[in-house]
Amino acid sequence: MSEVFLNGSFIEASQARISPMDRGFLFADGIYEVIPVFNGVLFRAEQHLRRLERSLDGLQIPSPHSVPEWMELCRELVRRNGGGELSLYMQVTRGAPDKRDHPFPYPVVPPTVFMSATSITRSPTHDPDAALGFAAITLDDIRWGRCDIKSVSLLPNVLAKQQAYAMGAAEAILIRDGLVTEGASTNVFLIKDGRIGTPPRSTRILNGITRELIIELCDRHRIALVEREIAKAELYDADEIWISSSTKDITPIVSVDTRKIGHGVPGELWKSFARRFVDYKLSVCSRSD
Ligand code: PLP
Repeated sequence: MSEVFLNGSFIEASQARISPMDRGFLFADGIYEVIPVFNGVLFRAEQHLRRLERSLDGLQIPSPHSVPEWMELCRELVRRNGGGELSLYMQVTRGAPDKRDHPFPYPVVPPTVFMSATSITRSPTHDPDAALGFAAITLDDIRWGRCDIKSVSLLPNVLAKQQAYAMGAAEAILIRDGLVTEGASTNVFLIKDGRIGTPPRSTRILNGITRELIIELCDRHRIALVEREIAKAELYDADEIWISSSTKDITPIVSVDTRKIGHGVPGELWKSFARRFVDYKLSVCSRSD
């Protein structure tokens, strides 16, 4: 049985109840975060919590907890769910007023806070030589103009991901004005002639914590990476394509719209970078948090 945190208490997941008047339910008026837990240690928690605060600011929802309080809640939830490898989910909504009305509730109601932890399996990054790689499709990016906010309003992402799955692919790479933005739940990296490119930080993408770490590790190991616009057509001509996210690390994409990328298998740069990435993760997550 897993335990969750809801509005101030740790309880059995099966006992958690949220009002149908909750603005998260009625308007998708809320934000979320996902923090990976590796060896029982929260990975890059400070960065995730900073982004959570930024998302709350973006929606003008006052943060119900300070960063040290969030950190302690996260650690306690990890402890209560046995540690190991987890995906820690956090959601904050504008709360549950008596009346359904578009403007923010007045008087203000307390935000709803929900946190859960689900076990996850290690990504292929941990065993690069055995990795097979995944297919992706491209789709129009039909999302709103503030994709930098980690809002729970994810319907276009859900539909895009489902369309990818229905076509036997693992991810939909989204295209706006002929340019790659990101995946339905990942950031995108394109490798050509040994150079890594990734779309620049903007309101069109979520600035992934894994994306930032990849940039940091490239800098540290003097691997050429530039943040630049990537045209859709470049995808088909890439040597390698990677997608990144907190729970899946860095995943190699070996076909896009059924066209083979590189040799149609995970590339050499991905394999060597995957090792560096996992080494870093292990070095950070072997200490007790
Ligand atoms: N882009 C989108 C749209 C996402 O939903 C996610 C993760 O959920 C990411 C990128 C990757 O972000 P992170 O590396 O912080 O998990």
